[in-house]
Amino acid sequence: MAVRIPLDTICVRSGLLCPRCEARIREGEYEEWEIDVMKALLDVGERLGGEVRYVKAHRVGGEVYIFLETPKGLPVWLGQELSRALGARVYVVEYSKDLRRLASNLLHPARVIGLDYSYLPDGSTLLQVKVDRSPRRGVEELAKKVLSLVSGMEVTIQATQAPTTTEARPDKSDIRGALDKIGL
Ligand SMILES: [Zn+2]
Repeated sequence: MAVRIPLDTICVRSGLLCPRCEARIREGEYEEWEIDVMKALLDVGERLGGEVRYVKAHRVGGEVYIFLETPKGLPVWLGQELSRALGARVYVVEYSKDLRRLASNLLHPARVIGLDYSYLPDGSTLLQVKVDRSPRRGVEELAKKVLSLVSGMEVTIQATQAPTTTEARPDKSDIRGALDKIGL
């Protein structure tokens, strides 16, 4: 089996959840719509070649971000195939426990320049992710949420230069090129 999902395969395939899977949805570990995402992933599993582990999916506006762990990288067609299956724009993001790598994967095409840690008076730590340009608004919010969940810290994203209007809105060909690079 090339795809590993956190719920039972039989439950996801049938849509009839056993008490154990149901509890994980009820407790909010996974949301109900993620069952469809896992199912779509199982459906393409045979074609994946290597092993892929489902970590989590998040929705930002009408877009779905799917976090997958894989030792071999994700194939170019996966995002397109899942977009078709789920009827939404899907971005697959390679999950990593390494914060810098995860930040890079999330914020691409913005480049991560560095991670700074500040220690706050209340004893907590603030993680500042410095990037070379402002990410899209939805992506920035998602990155903050995901990095904060993984690190247990409060997270801010800081663009090193204030972008001009043209930089903030890259033209379509830039976006396409960037998506091709990360295999979407
Ligand atoms: Zn189950």
